[in-house]
Amino acid sequence: MHYFNKFRVKPGSSVDLNSIDPNFKDKHESHEHALPEIQAYSQKLSELQYLMYAEKKRSLLICLQGRDAAGKDGTINHVLAAMNPQGCKVSGFKVPTPEEAAHDFLWRCHKETPQKGQVSIFNRSHYEDVLVVRVHNLVPKEIWKKRYDHINAFEALLHDSDTHVLKFYLHISPEEELSRFKERIDDPARHWKISEGDYAERPFWDEYTKAFEAALSKCSTEHAPWFVIPANHKWFRNLAVSRIVAEYLESLDMQFPPPTVDIDDIRKKYHAAEKSQVGKE
Ligand code: AMP
Ligand code: MG
Repeated sequence: MHYFNKFRVKPGSSVDLNSIDPNFKDKHESHEHALPEIQAYSQKLSELQYLMYAEKKRSLLICLQGRDAAGKDGTINHVLAAMNPQGCKVSGFKVPTPEEAAHDFLWRCHKETPQKGQVSIFNRSHYEDVLVVRVHNLVPKEIWKKRYDHINAFEALLHDSDTHVLKFYLHISPEEELSRFKERIDDPARHWKISEGDYAERPFWDEYTKAFEAALSKCSTEHAPWFVIPANHKWFRNLAVSRIVAEYLESLDMQFPPPTVDIDDIRKKYHAAEKSQVGKE
């Protein structure tokens, strides 16, 4: 549980994002240097997700939050590439639709939580309702300030229902964000990703920092931890997220379910004469 403990926000602690280095890359000099480790954790993740799918006793919810261009899409690509698509689902949360806005803020998220054996990844999440909503006063403070408790109760319910919740804040610097926006401008294949809204959020950088710090401090619990992932290096971000998920899934000590049939009996019945049968064909 080395990375799990290293990047976890300890329950009850306060977070100071400006003191966390977004360029951190541990002992690795470069992506190339880290590649064997990245591949090893992807392989581990693949085996553990297969086990979860087979066991069907519990599920996993991964929440990804971060500023624009923090790498939520890239992280999803990396983590999902290791998984059997039949056992995974990705849900993105945008400005609420009229139907969503006509319900409580958790309604649209609760519907997307994973059933037993499955992994769900949230690209943004119920935390938007204490992030963008708080920064832009989209509802009065009396409403959003109660949401931290609502969120903790919701995640406790999920945990008690065997849905394990892991939440990742992808931590980039303002300079890195701007350089990623510029890369999008310079690449016609990524022009579709650019919105003026992204630039319009930049003057609110410090307000977002405060809102993220509040969410990370108030809602990192024993049953649903937050992790702050240094994310200026995309490859380190991918390594850290997949390693934390793998370490956590491993600690669950999942087991394959026992066979529903007598394997020896089946072997005798259908496979004993295999050699001679193949010969006859
Ligand atoms: P993107 O993820 O780049 O497609 O953008 C989705 C946008 O929807 C972001 O600007 C989010 O801040 C915004 N958004 C997501 N959830 C909410 C919410 N509950 N209320 C208002 N805006 C939201
Ligand atoms: Mg965006």
